[in-house]
Amino acid sequence: MENGFTGIDIPSDDVITNCMHCGLCLPTCPTYNLTGRERSSPRGRIRLIKAVAEGELAMTQGFIDEMNFCLDCQACETACPAGVKYGSLVESARNQISLQGRESLSARLIKWIFLTHVLSTKWQLKLVARLLRLYQQGGLEWLVNRTGILTAVAPKLAKLQKLSPRIDAQFFDESHPEILYPEGTIRYRIGFLSGCIMNVAFAAINNDTVKVLLHNDCQIIIPKDQDCCGSMQAHNGDFATARALARKNIDVFARYDLDYIVINSAGCGALMKEYGHYLKDDEAYAAKAKAFSLLVLDLTEFLAMFEWKRPTEPFPFRVAYHDACHLAHAQKVTVQPRMLLSQIPGVTPVELPESSWCCGSAGTYNMTHYDDSMKILERKMTNVRAAQADYVVASNPGCLAQMEYGCELYEVNVNVIHFATLLRKAYRIE
Ligand code: SF4
Ligand code: SF4
Repeated sequence: MENGFTGIDIPSDDVITNCMHCGLCLPTCPTYNLTGRERSSPRGRIRLIKAVAEGELAMTQGFIDEMNFCLDCQACETACPAGVKYGSLVESARNQISLQGRESLSARLIKWIFLTHVLSTKWQLKLVARLLRLYQQGGLEWLVNRTGILTAVAPKLAKLQKLSPRIDAQFFDESHPEILYPEGTIRYRIGFLSGCIMNVAFAAINNDTVKVLLHNDCQIIIPKDQDCCGSMQAHNGDFATARALARKNIDVFARYDLDYIVINSAGCGALMKEYGHYLKDDEAYAAKAKAFSLLVLDLTEFLAMFEWKRPTEPFPFRVAYHDACHLAHAQKVTVQPRMLLSQIPGVTPVELPESSWCCGSAGTYNMTHYDDSMKILERKMTNVRAAQADYVVASNPGCLAQMEYGCELYEVNVNVIHFATLLRKAYRIE
């Protein structure tokens, strides 16, 4: 079995036979929608993975491209009546591609630099972020845009530059103490993940999240030596790095007696709820990882679970909700954010058509598959325009950045903001 691989729960022959008569997931799949090709559908990919895993097909470049073409949005998992765990299959396939060294040299190098090192090591990420900020704020980016030199020399890079996050002047973890106390009696002790990109490029969202939690009488613990959650690494098949980061975070957060760990980024939350799964074969960590995952909640999930403090002043706006894939499909959190919105006085919730259709951001997908990502974004922005909302709210920074880019590209006039920011505004907290 030269190209086979093991270690994943491959669907049985019966499931595959049922798949052939089913196909319920196909209309929910953005890549099937783009191409109309069976092999670019969930069902097609499942058959490919099974064939390669069992050694019937070779691990060809076509197979690798198909695995990478998938957004890992997991909309197919939500649609599947047989409960096929597609997300875990495609991530395992990517892991095997990586372990067998089947990617191009450049792809391996980029992953090694950015996933294994920069995102996974706080000081390296901060160094790269500071250099990027110098480029963005020091006049060089302005000069490059003004002269159009990047567009002329490397047009693809020029497009990607527009998608790269704006780096904050002050990083979140450097502007907050490790422990924050609410004004009143403490109701919950909350661990907070400051994140990797969130920490250097979305500090305002972290700040809003902390303010909302403090307003809800939470004591907040932001461990200084926490690390990236490992989601980008896991979704791209680098399980070894993802597991190392998971172990580190489990140890760091275990030092505190926490009621919950609250997350404001759907991708991070989805992976942290799966630490138990990723470390199930690690004798020393299996039980600890499972217990850790049980503490993890998305911000909206946490607030909806308890007697949250509803804003008292009217917030008279039309608000549409975008379901981030890793919140709606991976974590199955869809009701709670809508419930919170309906409880804010003055808010008119408006339904975003196809709210759970991916926006095309999908971690690094908009960088690695720019053209496909933009086609998916166009559909999202058509729906955003149709909603005629004042605000479109989401709980994932990647979705926010992608839809903000979409607003600029398609001239859609709407405020795209994080759920925490909306709540902070509704609370009238500065
Ligand atoms: S994860 Fe998304 S893109 Fe991939 S097969 Fe499923 S629905 Fe299609
Ligand atoms: S919905 Fe599930 S059972 Fe049906 S084709 Fe898709 S993966 Fe197979």
